[in-house]
Amino acid sequence: MSRIVMKFGGTSVADLDRIRAVAARVKRERDAGHEVAVVVSAMSGTTNQLVAWCQALSPLHDAREYDAVVATGEQVTTGLLAIALQEIGVEARSWQGWQIPIRTDNAHGKARIAAIEGAELIRRMQAGQVAVVSGFQGISPTGRITTLGRGGSDTSAVALAAALKADRCDIYTDVDGVYTTDPRIVPKARKLAKISYEEMLELASVGAKVLQTRSVELAMNEHVRVQVLSSFADLPGTLVVDEDEIVEKETVSGIAYSRDEAKITLRRVPDRPGVAAGVFGPLAQQAVNVDMIVQNIAADGTTDLTFTVGKADLPRALAALEALRPQIGFAEVQTDTDVAKISVVGVGMRSHAGVAATMFRALADKAINIEVISTSEIKVSVLVASEYTELAVRALHTAYGLDAA
Ligand code: ADP
Ligand code: ASP
Ligand code: MG
Repeated sequence: MSRIVMKFGGTSVADLDRIRAVAARVKRERDAGHEVAVVVSAMSGTTNQLVAWCQALSPLHDAREYDAVVATGEQVTTGLLAIALQEIGVEARSWQGWQIPIRTDNAHGKARIAAIEGAELIRRMQAGQVAVVSGFQGISPTGRITTLGRGGSDTSAVALAAALKADRCDIYTDVDGVYTTDPRIVPKARKLAKISYEEMLELASVGAKVLQTRSVELAMNEHVRVQVLSSFADLPGTLVVDEDEIVEKETVSGIAYSRDEAKITLRRVPDRPGVAAGVFGPLAQQAVNVDMIVQNIAADGTTDLTFTVGKADLPRALAALEALRPQIGFAEVQTDTDVAKISVVGVGMRSHAGVAATMFRALADKAINIEVISTSEIKVSVLVASEYTELAVRALHTAYGLDAA
């Protein structure tokens, strides 16, 4: 007998038939004698709608009220799944974040889980009750509802698995595993039987939406066995494992893209010490995450400073920059939201030269212009015009020999 956390994403609970199918899958595990906790997302599309409503009322809305709104989607699906389970004879009850409680910090909209009190859930699971838990949400130190950032149900599931000392955390989604790149963009993408925590972490952080970044980080730190698999088919999925469990290390094991970033250029910034600190310090204070950065030195003692921020952070970033303009004295702020970041990831990069060169050559051959570059030990990213996203990902997938035969 094992203790299992099963997580179902938005498309897996998109309507009542799917919720019934999920209930049947949960029953199978329970009937096999396992203790089961289920984490669910909102029905697909629901969270987008809730976010859009907040933005339509006010682009710079109160993040605490945003959380009160967007956390509601999961409450619906936990209740519905509990009913569906009871209907097929499985004892079940729904749990909202505040009821468990799942304690977080107070960074509304991107809160981090601090602690989960699992004792009551464990007691009930041992007595045969299935716990159906709302993903994506928690409660702040001051008792307000928080959410964990988009895609956060994955993190809820892994954190719950760690807190409950579960044997497995199965992430059921609409693809049957982790692929070399998004299979919706590259039909020749290959399913990976295993991927290392590190590579999965890097892929997630540069845009592979299949797992939320924080969930992989947690799984790695807490040694949670994560498996990604399909809620629609009975196929083996992808196991996320320690690097030494992977025998054949590819130079590049995956490619990801993100259209979630916006490019900001400050034109004619004075070229003197302290300017970068003067720009990025206040942005950090506004909780704006800056990702890629380039700076050029111009001949006339000024420089252009280009960087990217999350699209959702753009209004706050621009407001902060406008406030800084008198002090810092740049000439102009330009923004471009029609950009995409394309990244290649692989642990083999540590010991192989020429990975970046291959990338630049493949993009040049397709006449795709590179706007910004950034690298890490196991990743190279470039920013390109978003219209080239698919073309760039496919070209790179072929260039690194990842296409399925
Ligand atoms: P869920 O609602 O179940 O959480 P998501 O939409 O968040 O599902 O994540 C699954 C999606 O991730 C897939 O439909 C796929 O389009 C996308 N995806 C991006 N990169 C990859 C990848 N490397 N492997 C598998 N899926 C990927
Ligand atoms: N419903 C939330 C979202 O759409 C959380 C999740 O699906 O993981 O971002
Ligand atoms: Mg998801």
